[in-house]
Amino acid sequence: MSLFSAVEMAPRDPILGLNEQYAADANPNKVNLGVGVYYDDNGKLPLLQCVQAAEKALMDKPAARGYLPIDGIAAYDAAVKSLVFGTDSEPVKSGRVATVQGLGGTGGLKIGADFLKKLNPQAKVLISDPSWENHRALFTQAGFEVGSYRYYDAVKRGINFDGMLADLKAAAPGTVVVLHACCHNPTGYDITPAQWDQVIATVKAGQLTPFLDMAYQGFGAGLAEDGAVIGKFVAAGLLFFVSTSFSKSFSLYGERVGALSVLAGSKEEADRVLSQLKIMIRTNYSNPPTHGGAVVAAVLNNPELRALWEKELGEMRQRIKLMRQKLVDGLKAAGVKQDMSFITQQVGMFSYSGLSKEQMVRLRGEFGVYGTDTGRMCVAALNSKNVDYVCKAIAQVI
Ligand code: PMP
Repeated sequence: MSLFSAVEMAPRDPILGLNEQYAADANPNKVNLGVGVYYDDNGKLPLLQCVQAAEKALMDKPAARGYLPIDGIAAYDAAVKSLVFGTDSEPVKSGRVATVQGLGGTGGLKIGADFLKKLNPQAKVLISDPSWENHRALFTQAGFEVGSYRYYDAVKRGINFDGMLADLKAAAPGTVVVLHACCHNPTGYDITPAQWDQVIATVKAGQLTPFLDMAYQGFGAGLAEDGAVIGKFVAAGLLFFVSTSFSKSFSLYGERVGALSVLAGSKEEADRVLSQLKIMIRTNYSNPPTHGGAVVAAVLNNPELRALWEKELGEMRQRIKLMRQKLVDGLKAAGVKQDMSFITQQVGMFSYSGLSKEQMVRLRGEFGVYGTDTGRMCVAALNSKNVDYVCKAIAQVI
């Protein structure tokens, strides 16, 4: 009898399982579209020039690695606030945003979830149906009952906006609503600015607590355009949470750089919120690591490096758009009769292709093209060398 005799084997992470299957596949033409990672046109994970320049500057003046403050590097937190809310915005100027450096976007979400659980233990959480697979698990693990609001309409191939609004309207006051700020994962469908206005009015009328997950700022229409939704929530007078991830936008996946920002009613309130967020951090991992935050702060706070970052981010965004177009054109050329132009209406790294589980299994088994069973494909992993092969493979199973 061991202490662990009764421990059950947890189900495997579906994406990691897919990666293992991909690694073991002997097909020389295999393509991995299962991951949520941006690859360049050579199929390589990019190391951005702005990151290399910042790292070089850091190396030229090597610094000892003391503990960071619990809430991270001050210059980093300030840069995140400016990026998310705008440097000259009222929330930043009045000091009513509490921002803490987090371990990636996931860390930002978790600090926020733990704080919310203390703030309002009875609240329920609503996530989109479908959503990033970790949303449900993360909020459940933080002690919440997690439900969903309607989002994807498989028949229409788009958003069930009436369903979404109806579900938000039916939510009890205090319900935490997790919203993808841009580049919805997994579907690729974002609501329009006019629809955001309706969501905001509903959230406000229903006294719901918005939690905006911003994991892809800059991958939709642009940095400012993607961030505009934050301004709408501010203008409506709402208090809310925003998690930020730099994993994709800086291609710094393994450095775990992200943040949580909480907009409070006043500076004094933000200070009290910050003190509580620090307890969440202190009791979980004490303080964040130095390197990733130092690099991102160096880039965001230096005009030249910042301009270089925006250029490189723009190139990633444009390459994804080009791949979407190539996918649509290639499918047509490969003989697919149905209209696939919805792929270019979607934004961000993912596409809900509309393919069934059976079709996705065939794509994997017969062609070595790996996407998730839900039909999600990472268009950011397509390139000029593999896109035609992928189109032909899809054409065979559709
Ligand atoms: N939110 C969403 C919607 C995501 O897609 C991801 C990453 N795939 C995250 C949060 C987490 O980001 P990170 O890797 O920085 O923790």
